[in-house]
Amino acid sequence: MTARAAILPAGPDTVARAARVLAAGGLVALPTETVYGLAARALDPTAVARIFAAKERPAFDPLIVHLADSADLPRVAQLPPDGDLRRRIDLLTAPHDSGGLWPGPLTLVLPRHPEVPDIVTAGLDTVAVRVPAHPVFRAVLAALGEPLAAPSANPFGFVSPTTAAHVADQLGDRVDLILDGGPCAVGLESTILDLRAPVPRVLRHGAVTLEQLRALLGEVTTGPAVLDRPEAPGQLARHYAPGVPVALLPQHVGAPGGPVGAAWLLVLDGPAPAWATDYARVIAPAQDGDLTRTAVALYGVLREAGAAGVARLDVLACSEEGLGAALLDRVRRAAM
Ligand code: AMP
Ligand code: MG
Repeated sequence: MTARAAILPAGPDTVARAARVLAAGGLVALPTETVYGLAARALDPTAVARIFAAKERPAFDPLIVHLADSADLPRVAQLPPDGDLRRRIDLLTAPHDSGGLWPGPLTLVLPRHPEVPDIVTAGLDTVAVRVPAHPVFRAVLAALGEPLAAPSANPFGFVSPTTAAHVADQLGDRVDLILDGGPCAVGLESTILDLRAPVPRVLRHGAVTLEQLRALLGEVTTGPAVLDRPEAPGQLARHYAPGVPVALLPQHVGAPGGPVGAAWLLVLDGPAPAWATDYARVIAPAQDGDLTRTAVALYGVLREAGAAGVARLDVLACSEEGLGAALLDRVRRAAM
């Protein structure tokens, strides 16, 4: 495809149009609460192949399957009738008012249903699944009536898009349609939890925190941050490449080491320290300590610094607790 895709404001008509494009095997960029996704019919290998082509994504990197409702889980995963795995699935996918975490930014790695094509799972015997919370994505899923595969709507290895304009900038000539649902409320990709091991394991940190998962499940481990052949492609070392050198400064650093010159400073948590005045620009989204503001801003700041040709982006670390684990993970990988 060479024509640039239209960015359409999300509404009943455009949701119906997006569902028609998807039903015909097309590619539609859609808002989720985490980042914008590049969606295609998950059970149609030809449609899914177009996702890999558009993103220039390596075939070993499996995709997340998105469902309208947790009741659809048996369509894509094999659920044991009872036992530990079943109990954990039921706890996590229960409605929020029953203490569960779906819909939301939590992806579960589960035994795969044979109908899920190999191209979706990169040939693994598991499938990654989530029920997104964004009303536009959910409306498209409901209109289509089948699961959607949807990785982040960016070329492989680059920063994920958190607005429709980000998608248009990088993939505008490779998708059929972009639905604009406004900026993403979370701003970081989903937490990925592998439920098959005796002890559940976080493969990628996200807005659903380790603390939340432990409160529900008891013991939960975290995987190695970087693997050669990743179980979760979010684990690739070089990821979130922003096009600007990024340096992570320890949280309680007295002042930056060398000259800051034309560098920018991003403060992950709290107000800017006194020494920040040396920087050309200082960004402190979580002045009040609310890290969700930093998560929403992070990828936009990386893009802006890259586009502005800033000499360096220094990032002042936060603590590893809560959402801090996901923020530090993404910044560390942007810094590689
Ligand atoms: P993206 O949306 O671009 O972040 O990509 C989707 C993510 O889902 C990838 O980074 C993978 O880490 C993860 N994923 C998909 N399928 C599996 C699976 N079967 N096992 C582990 N991780 C998976
Ligand atoms: Mg991605």
